[in-house]
Amino acid sequence: MATADVLKPDFASQRKHFIFTDEHDQLRDSIHRFVVKELAPHAEEWEETTFPDWVFGRMGELGFLGLDKPEAYGGQGGDYYTALVLAEEMAHAHCGGLAMGIAVQTDMAMPPILAFGTEEQRQQWAAPAIAGKAILCIGITEPDAGSDVAGIKTRAVKDGDEYVINGSKTYITNGHRAHAIVLVTKTDPDAGSPDESSGAQSGHAGPQAPAPHEGFTLFLVPMDTPGVIREKRLRKLGMHASDTALLAFNDVRVPASAVLGQIGKGFYHIMWELQGERLIGAAGCVAGAQNVFDRTLQYAKERTAFGRAIGRFQAIRHKFAEMATKIETARQMVYTTAWRFHNGEYPVREITMAKLYSARIAVEVADECIQIHGGAGYMKEYGIERAWRDLRLNRIGAGTDEIMLDVIGRSYGL
Ligand SMILES: Cc1cc2nc3c(=O)[nH]c(=O)nc-3n(C[C@H](O)[C@H](O)[C@H](O)COP(=O)(O)OP(=O)(O)OC[C@H]3O[C@@H](n4cnc5c(N)ncnc54)[C@H](O)[C@@H]3O)c2cc1C
Repeated sequence: MATADVLKPDFASQRKHFIFTDEHDQLRDSIHRFVVKELAPHAEEWEETTFPDWVFGRMGELGFLGLDKPEAYGGQGGDYYTALVLAEEMAHAHCGGLAMGIAVQTDMAMPPILAFGTEEQRQQWAAPAIAGKAILCIGITEPDAGSDVAGIKTRAVKDGDEYVINGSKTYITNGHRAHAIVLVTKTDPDAGSPDESSGAQSGHAGPQAPAPHEGFTLFLVPMDTPGVIREKRLRKLGMHASDTALLAFNDVRVPASAVLGQIGKGFYHIMWELQGERLIGAAGCVAGAQNVFDRTLQYAKERTAFGRAIGRFQAIRHKFAEMATKIETARQMVYTTAWRFHNGEYPVREITMAKLYSARIAVEVADECIQIHGGAGYMKEYGIERAWRDLRLNRIGAGTDEIMLDVIGRSYGL
């Protein structure tokens, strides 16, 4: 082989995954410019105040809240990968609470309305949510039931042409600002006898799922309905820019038209919703990990100790090698699973694996980045500690690591 034919590694080349086209790249550029110019400068301030509602309006105006949503409701009609692009680019705001609040709108509350809602519900709530004029939240978790979704106690009882809802929901993102909530209730407490572990946020509720998953119904409830009480603004470790609410429902009367989807099938509906939420969350984790990695790499090239850049110590260099390998592995899992999702499969096992692995490595990476920064990593001004606090939620929210492991284990018939 002549010397000229020897291939040399090109570490600087642009790495585009095959799922993305030039159009996705253009979209990525425009979201990136918006995030860096209009959102990131406020990250510090929003840690104290939570992010303002105008962000929804502005993102709606730019079309970013409906990238993969139908044009009939004001969306852009793009493919699923456009939603991944948004989740990834939001990481550049350095404001986990903001990314979460937006994701609740676009990838958690809106999909069930579009998938199971009536035309009237879609026009009333999905269209303004895509435009950024209505803010949505989703209420699954209760003070006494989180992982164990089948154990929820919020009841909706039929009374003539109406339903009367009583119960409470906790940790609800956007709960203080939302105009409407996608609410998980129990309408038939006698349907099946909930077995706690099979009723967990398991994603097992396919057509073959056993009876314990019957008797749940989703409602789409305007938050100004009498009896809906925004009880408390909850304080938390990270994600400070988001608002997190404890909500009470005291004799909330809604018409039968507030039922979202099929009566008694709410558990299946919410398990379907959780799959999309987890995959988008996994993409956000990978992007968050990459972002904190990049910032730390820069730091390791500039910070010196013992007469050299700290990144030149083998101990530190190997930390970067470990982190980069984990991030790349997680990214490949997310993209491959997204490709299957996009092509009509319902790969619950792989979505669960991607969610579990991405959340874990994101927290590991952020932790290692604090270590590489030394004392600076512990200081607020570098934002690395915030990335760790924000990313830490991902091992709990949308299904804990333990529940993810159980879903994967059960998928092998165990
Ligand atoms: C900041 C934040 C925002 C959130 N936003 C929302 C939201 O918008 N809407 C919403 O509905 N929820 C939201 N959540 C709730 C979140 O999804 C739940 O916290 C999560 O599902 C875990 O439920 P839990 O907190 O009740 O924990 P628990 O279910 O009480 O679990 C406690 C521990 O027990 C373990 N455990 C439980 N069951 C099992 C089992 N079968 N096997 C092994 N281990 C088990 C868990 O893994 C965990 O380690 C949010 C939470 C937070 C912290």
